[in-house]
Amino acid sequence: MLATKSPVWAIKQAEDFDRCLGEQLKKLQTDHIDFYLFHGLGAKRWHDVVLKFDLLRRAEAAKQDGRIGHIGFSFHDQYDAFQEIVDGYDQWEFCQIQYNYLDIENQAGTKGLQYAASKGLAVVVMEPLMGGKLARPPAQVQQIFDNFEPKRTPADWALQWVWNQPEVSLLLSGMSSARQVEENLASAERSAVNSLDAEALRLFQDVRQAYKDLTPIPCTQCGYCMPCPSGVDIPTNLEAYNNAMVHNDLHSARFFYQRFVAEGARASACTQCQECDPKCTQGIIISEWMPKVDALLGAKTA
Ligand code: SF4
Ligand code: SF4
Repeated sequence: MLATKSPVWAIKQAEDFDRCLGEQLKKLQTDHIDFYLFHGLGAKRWHDVVLKFDLLRRAEAAKQDGRIGHIGFSFHDQYDAFQEIVDGYDQWEFCQIQYNYLDIENQAGTKGLQYAASKGLAVVVMEPLMGGKLARPPAQVQQIFDNFEPKRTPADWALQWVWNQPEVSLLLSGMSSARQVEENLASAERSAVNSLDAEALRLFQDVRQAYKDLTPIPCTQCGYCMPCPSGVDIPTNLEAYNNAMVHNDLHSARFFYQRFVAEGARASACTQCQECDPKCTQGIIISEWMPKVDALLGAKTA
């Protein structure tokens, strides 16, 4: 089975869809791609590219003439956008979402997983190990796994948690060595829907709490501080900072901040007006955090 994605970000006119697909078929030396996804959809790309250029009709034509087998999309945005995209087309066959035991309320989240499945879409899960971070947890989290029976590696537990859920059709986990392939295969062999008992599910509650205790800024991502008059995306900036600290992964957090947060939405755009401070439901003095966030994440990684 072959799967690849339409580079929605590179489509500037309707014809680009077929041009890109043609190039992909040529490079893959095939005349048929089984699973074809609109890449990285969110509200903006959905409206400004997919709907604007009527790309769903083009995908249908490609399916009709056999260039592709199944039409789906991968997703990076918040739940409301996910629901809009699922509801916006009645012939989606599958979708791909970021999902793991820490991302249950982030992006599509558990709500999105269940919604898509209820609408008949197969759901492919990406980032089950959060880019590898969940395979290398901080010491406080590792300790919780170490104290639990049966003994499993943090990566194994994280994969089992995803496979445990009936709405998950497929799990994608990046592997960079033969050993990881073997470990993931062994983990998959042991997996089953609803195979985790109540005690195992409580383990994940403890692990989530441990991550929460390690989080320097108690932001719940509620969004009540928004909108910022200067355009700063406050929750996203705070989350990126928290991720850097909790996972001890400055490199990824800087990459995310500098590459995926629009310049005008970064903490660097904060003018210190302090309008947001009294609005925060958690009493966070946001204006004081913004310069710290930019100092940490705006710097170049050595
Ligand atoms: S203090 Fe900064 S982040 Fe808060 S509302 Fe003003 S400009 Fe936006
Ligand atoms: S109001 Fe406070 S807790 Fe809610 S998103 Fe804004 S900073 Fe985070």
